[in-house]
Amino acid sequence: MFRNTACSLLLALILGSCITPDVSPSPSHNLQPNRKAKNIILLIGDGMGLTQITAGLYSYNNQLELERFPVIGLHKSYSSDNLVTDSAAGATAFACGIKTYNGAIAVDSDSLAVQTILEEAESKGLATGLVATSTIVHATPASFIAHASKRSYYEEIAADFLDTEIDLFIGGGKKYFDRRETDDRNIYTELEAKGYIMSDYFQQKLIDLDVDYTKNFGYLTADNDPLPVRQGRDYLQPASALAMSFLDTHDAENKGFFLMVEGAQIDWGGHANDSDYIITEVLDFDKVIGDALDFAQKDRETLVIVTADHETGGFAINPGSTMEKIEPGFTSDYHTAALIPVFAYGPGAELFAGIYENTAIHNKMRLAIGFKK
Ligand SMILES: [Zn+2]
Repeated sequence: MFRNTACSLLLALILGSCITPDVSPSPSHNLQPNRKAKNIILLIGDGMGLTQITAGLYSYNNQLELERFPVIGLHKSYSSDNLVTDSAAGATAFACGIKTYNGAIAVDSDSLAVQTILEEAESKGLATGLVATSTIVHATPASFIAHASKRSYYEEIAADFLDTEIDLFIGGGKKYFDRRETDDRNIYTELEAKGYIMSDYFQQKLIDLDVDYTKNFGYLTADNDPLPVRQGRDYLQPASALAMSFLDTHDAENKGFFLMVEGAQIDWGGHANDSDYIITEVLDFDKVIGDALDFAQKDRETLVIVTADHETGGFAINPGSTMEKIEPGFTSDYHTAALIPVFAYGPGAELFAGIYENTAIHNKMRLAIGFKK
């Protein structure tokens, strides 16, 4: 007993003298990046918890592009009014650095608009882009460009695309732009009048388009929700590749860019308790992760972050599973509150090690790219 106490005391003294001075309850406030990033690529796998990643890994020959990341952290995903967040509050935490209520699109708990990192990047002269496999007015992309008290205000969110100078956006939801129910406006033609080159899946496939890199560009991939990848959706990888090369060369000033790409339907597979849906969407998203890492490796000035807003389904890989075949289990058809992995590569990546609030991702991105109020 005495010896244990003495040992503990000695250990505490040694640890105290060695470690305490460096330990801070909020390390992100004190850290500075080793090297400043010029570009940020934020890749959000909606509903992509550790089990979703694990299932993708074991279903794909035990290898994922995600394994290339040198820095891994975990974030706490809860929102201001619920331990289990939704995608709106989750994305608002990344975009604005605030905890807000479930359903809020870049507004605080009083429904007041808060500037997003995409808007801040625009104001500082960076090129900006959004790519999603949902509608482009869905909660995750919306939280970077729009402000709405409810995530379901899709037409209001579409109109907010006119309030920024976003350089490129690609995703579904054409009907919220050109055949609106709440007013007679046509946001599609209003964007064209503002100088955007607009196109959509009904006119021409994205890969067949000869995109003018000097003009702002919007492309709508579906009238409403795009298809799941296993039913033929084929644009996430080419759209993301286009976004990276477009944003990299779009501005003559070459001040850098902010790009958010969302693999939205990993979440929808979780809601449907459909492991094949989850796995096919994770693997589609992982290809984009590989392309972003290739870009950053070559460019050397790009910070790449991969994370999720939350886990969906309480997904488990049950006994009896093999590398070839997962035996899935689910505890819910909604989101869960598990800690969420964060992967980082490039200048400032070291800021993303550790365990922190989801809002810290916003702070760390701003630190890495050198944004100051
Ligand atoms: Zn969801």
